[in-house]
Amino acid sequence: MELNDSIKTIKGIGDKTASAFARLGIETVNDLLLNYPRTYVTYEDPVDISDLQAGSRQSVRAVVNSRAEIRKVHGLTIVILYAKDFSGTIKLTWFNCPFLRNFFHIGQEFVFVGNVAYKGGMMTMTQPEYYTDDKYGELTHVWQPVYTVTPGITSKTIQKAVRGAEEVIDRLEDYLHDNVLDEYHIMGIQKAIHSIHFPQDEQKLKGAVKRMAFDEFYSFISNLHRIKDDNVYAENTCIINCDEEVRTFIENLRFKLTGAQMNAVRDMLDDMRSEHVMNRLVQGDVGSGKTIVAAAGLYAVAASGYQGVIMAPTEVLAVQHYKELSSLFEPYGISVGLLTGSMTAKEKREMYSRIKNMDVQVVVGTHALIQDKVEYGRLALVVTDEQHRFGVKQRERLASKGEAPHTLVMSATPIPRTLAIIMYGDLDISVIDELPAGRIPIKNCVVDESYRKTALGFIMKEVSQGHQIYIVCPMVEASEVLDDVANVTEYTEELKKSIRDGYGADTSVVCLHGKMKAEEKNRILQDFADGKISILVSTTVIEVGINNPNATVMMVENAERFGLAQLHQLRGRVGRGNLQSYCIFMSGKKDKDTMERLNVLEKSNDGFYIAGEDLKMRGPGDFFGIRQSGELMFKVGDIYNHADMLRAAQDVYDRYGQEIDAKLINKGDDRLYTMPVL
Ligand code: ADP
Ligand code: MG
Repeated sequence: MELNDSIKTIKGIGDKTASAFARLGIETVNDLLLNYPRTYVTYEDPVDISDLQAGSRQSVRAVVNSRAEIRKVHGLTIVILYAKDFSGTIKLTWFNCPFLRNFFHIGQEFVFVGNVAYKGGMMTMTQPEYYTDDKYGELTHVWQPVYTVTPGITSKTIQKAVRGAEEVIDRLEDYLHDNVLDEYHIMGIQKAIHSIHFPQDEQKLKGAVKRMAFDEFYSFISNLHRIKDDNVYAENTCIINCDEEVRTFIENLRFKLTGAQMNAVRDMLDDMRSEHVMNRLVQGDVGSGKTIVAAAGLYAVAASGYQGVIMAPTEVLAVQHYKELSSLFEPYGISVGLLTGSMTAKEKREMYSRIKNMDVQVVVGTHALIQDKVEYGRLALVVTDEQHRFGVKQRERLASKGEAPHTLVMSATPIPRTLAIIMYGDLDISVIDELPAGRIPIKNCVVDESYRKTALGFIMKEVSQGHQIYIVCPMVEASEVLDDVANVTEYTEELKKSIRDGYGADTSVVCLHGKMKAEEKNRILQDFADGKISILVSTTVIEVGINNPNATVMMVENAERFGLAQLHQLRGRVGRGNLQSYCIFMSGKKDKDTMERLNVLEKSNDGFYIAGEDLKMRGPGDFFGIRQSGELMFKVGDIYNHADMLRAAQDVYDRYGQEIDAKLINKGDDRLYTMPVL
């Protein structure tokens, strides 16, 4: 068996299983080994129902004491069951598992494991796992990997397949020499791959994760240098020289740019007129007004007879930029086009030809912008918004569409300067460190469940004043992808009910999640922007970039499950206009550490400070659990958590890069140790 062989060479995997694996993007043994667990769980000894803590993942040993009841809500089938032990009763619910109805019988004992919540006056678990006592005994106290799954494939299937491929792991060659491994305290590749799938203990798992992070960083840095060599010193073939026009454009805006925005615009104009092509990063906290800086650049390019594009990480954001730029540029006769994945083939074809004919001067879009079919007329500037969602590769591809277009990258991720130099080795940096005048600081509070009633009262008061509300629910940590959807759907239903019962009000509450079709998401966000929706309940899909100045409250459920920097991004969705805004962090846990961590947000509105504090406070067990930011493009690597590996990767690249490249290129095949390409 070799890395590039089909997974069907693994014993026990036939055509049917293989096609289910293909849905997860796993076709070769290599794919299988690089498919890391999403997270890990341990199974602890069951506790008494009366000792359950809302907000944690726990297990209980309980006896079924009701018949399973079935309910249908919005096309979801919900199974509800009650079970008890000597200390109390617990309510258990499952979504879309109708077969469970006849599975449970009154009087049977099971161990139920799941995330505990306090709802409707009792402890509940949603989508709990269930085991017989014997089965449960086998699981306890061992780290269990949890993979992303699909119908026909469970975490167990994947675990078994990896076991079947162990002989390949044992033959892997490491691209790092033993002495490098020793010097930088990096785990060898065989041990790392093994431990990431079968961690024996926390220590080994951490070592393995660090190794994977190293590989990602190393691959990133080496790619970055390759691009830099081709790109940074490229001659400027699109000289843009129209300061006068840009000045007029800026003077006619409905607001005055901040000093920091002006500086960024000036840097950009200087670059685009210089002898080399521009490669610039504009870094600024959420709400600092990066879009208008990009708009000034696009305007300059269009006014000089060239074309500019701006690429957003999500369709929703692309549509938002499209609208904003269209209205900004219309008075100047500059035509703006939109290109996204969900457009029909015909619409796309039309847009391709308009782009090619220079019928549109500014193009806004998503990944669709870098498809091979797109040919540009006279492309001079490529802007990528919230760049971390894009890998180096994609950036390179877009850049290769013009002769050597200028590039501007915008990011809100606060990165300490030392790391920024490594991460953005190929870019000059402009920092927007000033918020627009007249912004009223957001009022924050960190609260627990006991505040829920008050919070709802507060929200309803804001709604009655015509303001709008965001509520964000976290990802559910369970093995079914469906859970996130079910979770927000159910939450929305309950919220509607509470509002009906408590306020008799006819409030528009709508739910939004990542599994919806792009069109539906766009429609909902448009309705929200138009003020037709008062309360928007969502998963973290709204995290990046959405702008609705009329939204005044952001409530985050289970705030303890988010990284502080991510919470800060979420908070950035409010306080974007001249209305007093509020952020409510609802914590499911109230222990001292959690509260202390969340209180950092109450103390500060400064993204840099927050990221730094989060780093200091993170416990040793948080490797996969809390992601610092949903924006970062690495699968495993976290630039804060693994800052040491980022530095090591840079160092190893500087010292041994040539030798390693030569070795990898010599091998010439797509082996595991050539690392996932970003
Ligand atoms: P971000 O940096 O998070 O991308 P945006 O560019 O979306 O921020 O800007 C946030 C909001 O602030 C927008 O509504 C924008 O129109 C507004 N804005 C930007 N610059 C200024 C300014 N100088 N004065 C007042 N409002 C501004
Ligand atoms: Mg933005």
